[in-house]
Amino acid sequence: LNRGLDGLGTTIFAEMSALALATGAINLGQGFPDTDGPESVREAAVRALRDGRGNQYPPGPGVPELRAAVADHQRRFYGLDFDPDTEVLVTAGATEAIAAAMLALLEPGDEVIAFEPFYDSYAACIAMAGAKRVPLTLHAPDFRPDLDALRAAVTRRTRVLLLNSPHNPTGMVLTPAELAAIAAIAVEHDLLVVTDEVYEHLVFDGAHTPLISLPGMRDRTVSISSAGKTFSFTGWKVGWVTGSRELVAAVRTTKQFLTYVASGPFQYAVAEALALPDTYYTAFRDDLRTKRDLLSAGLTDAGFTTYTPQGTYFITTDISALAPGTDALTFCRTLPAKCGVVAVPNSVFYDHPTAGRTQVRFAFCKKPEVLTDAADRLRKADF
Ligand code: PMP
Ligand code: GLN
Repeated sequence: LNRGLDGLGTTIFAEMSALALATGAINLGQGFPDTDGPESVREAAVRALRDGRGNQYPPGPGVPELRAAVADHQRRFYGLDFDPDTEVLVTAGATEAIAAAMLALLEPGDEVIAFEPFYDSYAACIAMAGAKRVPLTLHAPDFRPDLDALRAAVTRRTRVLLLNSPHNPTGMVLTPAELAAIAAIAVEHDLLVVTDEVYEHLVFDGAHTPLISLPGMRDRTVSISSAGKTFSFTGWKVGWVTGSRELVAAVRTTKQFLTYVASGPFQYAVAEALALPDTYYTAFRDDLRTKRDLLSAGLTDAGFTTYTPQGTYFITTDISALAPGTDALTFCRTLPAKCGVVAVPNSVFYDHPTAGRTQVRFAFCKKPEVLTDAADRLRKADF
């Protein structure tokens, strides 16, 4: 067995969703919406299935319609130009894109700097590439990155910065000044940057800026996104990579030996989704902002310390005032029995031994009545 995988076990999402199923609790753990994406997009998937588009292996880099739609999206929202034939790659969700990027860009012994808490697949993929993760801790209450610490963490072996903004689980969104500083460090030390932007359309104040749009970043950045979050189809597993011809070719090389291709008919549907009018995107974000405010107020009322997220559909909280002495993992494992709610312990997203010990994450991509019910249960619980 690969020793690098020691301790990775079962993902916290699988554990907590299984607990929700077994107990019938409200699942505010794993991040998936309880309302599917637009009917017109589902219809597009049905049409593709029925008309035999994508039922056999689609082209390795993704169907041309989707690659063109991704390129159009990058131009429309960010003014960025990518050649759909050489600078766009369709993947089986952002998860595969992250894995393929790590395997494509890293050699054993290389170092990857990432801000923790980090999405759990990062540690696994860095380990699978035989590389070493160098975590930089984001601290409550603001979870701002420490840019001096970033500068100091760069060594001769540093190859990749792995960034996630809007950030899961804290909801932190990098500011233009932070992005500029990070870009300057990448240029100065000739680093590659992989950016996980799956929550690009869930920024509640201000707007998302892709790092690749900054000076010096066009040829050293691999940008990753996914239809799962933006269009509420997490089960379709359609993601994509954009970047320079050279970097996309490298990721395509590893990707073809991971899945070769995936999600044939869904690729056509996602191409239509990306072309939805701006009103779709703004309504989606506004709806999630309302839900953020609803759950945030409910959690505060129930005694949690809540850290208002600037983006994503997660709220990180601290439980120490509510349940003194209890660690987040124990709290989450016993929460369904206590009050019929499932959440996720942020502690599993840190290497740092104590930074996330009392942090618990709640997903708010759920119907308002579900959020209200969950908040009621939490308020009435005896911790
Ligand atoms: N990155 C982050 C930060 C995520 O929260 C998720 C979960 N959606 C993913 C990547 C994986 O995305 P996908 O479901 O498209 O594989
Ligand atoms: N991205 C989702 C979350 O953070 C879960 C994805 C998964 O289950 N792997 O909750």
